Amino acid sequence: MNDYVTAATSLQCKECDRVGELTAAYVCDFCFGPLEVVYDTDRIASVVSRERIAAGPPSLWRYRDFLPCAPDDPAAGLPTGMTPLIRAPRLAAALGLRDIWVKNDTANPTHSFKDRVVSIALQKARELGFTTTACASTGNLANAVAAHSAAHGLESYVFVPADLEEQKIIATAVYGTTLLAVGGNYDDVNRLCMELASDRPWAFVNVNVRPYYAEGSKTLAYEVAEQLEWTLPDRCIVPIASGSLFTKIHRGFVDLVETGLVAAGRQPVLNGAQAAGCGPVAAAFEAGLDFVPPVRPKTIAKSLAIGNPADGVFAIEVARATGGRIDAVSEQEIVEGIELLAQTTGIFTETAGGVTVAVLMRLAQTGQIDPDERVVLYITGDGLKTLDAVASRVERHDIEPTVASFEAAVGEARIVA
Ligand SMILES: *Cc1c(COP(=O)(O)O)cnc(C)c1O
Ligand SMILES: [Zn+2]
Repeated sequence: MNDYVTAATSLQCKECDRVGELTAAYVCDFCFGPLEVVYDTDRIASVVSRERIAAGPPSLWRYRDFLPCAPDDPAAGLPTGMTPLIRAPRLAAALGLRDIWVKNDTANPTHSFKDRVVSIALQKARELGFTTTACASTGNLANAVAAHSAAHGLESYVFVPADLEEQKIIATAVYGTTLLAVGGNYDDVNRLCMELASDRPWAFVNVNVRPYYAEGSKTLAYEVAEQLEWTLPDRCIVPIASGSLFTKIHRGFVDLVETGLVAAGRQPVLNGAQAAGCGPVAAAFEAGLDFVPPVRPKTIAKSLAIGNPADGVFAIEVARATGGRIDAVSEQEIVEGIELLAQTTGIFTETAGGVTVAVLMRLAQTGQIDPDERVVLYITGDGLKTLDAVASRVERHDIEPTVASFEAAVGEARIVA
């Protein structure tokens, strides 16, 4: 990828619009607003094409022209992205709909979409000269930072709430990271990491390199458009924790129109999905607020359990601008969502995906989706990481190794003529 020069020009404050250099900074020096990478869009438009993307590597680096950095060797590190987009006719039929698609981002190296954000964050961290990585995580980010750091030979420190699912703890520690299980919730963990980041020369992927990290989520828009033969879906349903994924998927779709890769037209309606046990963005949307009052999380959807979401306000803006909304679903609905997806598509999602499917169910059942709309569900994490959510619902037949015992359990053979 020797012809690569990033079109990223600066970091810009999302509140006061002041611009600064592309360094390890994340808050505005003037107003403490969050920073975002900005690009020379004309420059991107002048180099990018569908053919150039198709000729790129089978990973998220094929969209490097839209990213703030890219490795010299795209095969280095853990290959991330280009996950399947699957049509789901049985799921659609169960809900009276006709054109439902599942973006199965469980098919990433550590089985969640966090591999995307970490790929970008670590590449940029290396360019900035960091040799140690760190993160505050609700679980999936911990897995990804530990694994990608191992692949790059970087030292890592991963901070998680101590009550995290056991599967996520094990699937992080195995990579040889230094794992800190903090007695507190995610917001406590995040506060600790902000303090530590101020005087340690570490790349905290979602603190001091967060602006670059966030860019990785845009690839979930680019990929879906490419997989739909360079068209945009009518609607997307996206889970919300900090709100970064939700806002960046929107940004990605806008990029595609601005650079001429897809025809100008209506932007996809974006529906945000939260758990009622931690739904501060959904609550603020419902109340028509322009700020997000923090909550104390209590939900089985631990990967979405951020009570004070950094990009919550921007998520509300995106939902309003696209004609979407942000809904919150109950614990019971989350489990039903996991089961419906598994039983109609063969895809086992973690609780975050249960939240996403449950919002689709709700929108369908309340007549908010036209049956012919093309809807993409973003399934962002793997069910094997949150087994406890469905463990008590498992039905099995314990039998002796005899035909009689088998027939007693499931009924006698029907005679086939
Ligand atoms: C982190 C995460 C999200 C949402 O991420 P934000 O960008 O913080 O909103 C969604 N799904 C899963 C499985 C996650 O781990
Ligand atoms: Zn500012």
